[in-house]
Amino acid sequence: MAFNIMTMSRVAAPVTRAERRRILELDHYCCRYCGLDGRASFENALVLSVDSVKPRAHKGKKDPSNLVACCRPCNMIKGTRAYKNFEGAKKHVLAYREELRAAWEGKFIHYAQPSEIAEQEP
Ligand SMILES: [Zn+2]
Repeated sequence: MAFNIMTMSRVAAPVTRAERRRILELDHYCCRYCGLDGRASFENALVLSVDSVKPRAHKGKKDPSNLVACCRPCNMIKGTRAYKNFEGAKKHVLAYREELRAAWEGKFIHYAQPSEIAEQEP
């Protein structure tokens, strides 16, 4: 058991490398929230980690029933909030990812307007 200074309570110790590897193998190296495949590329593998569905800060246990493979973006979105269950957490994570995607597309993707295409043609 470790001590969480924010909640002033004892929490489960962080996942060890061996436990992390076991959880990743159980989940076939795929993020359980978004499906990112950690075997598809080195970049994907770098962002794959393990998430406590019920956070350690909320007395989540460090056992396979509470641990899932999770990419760091999904882990960051999920944060330390407590959800009723994995499906509740997944629903929140996927909805927020879509919000972020829509904002990103609005800011960085510029769809050419028909008038702009006409201007470029000789
Ligand atoms: Zn993910």
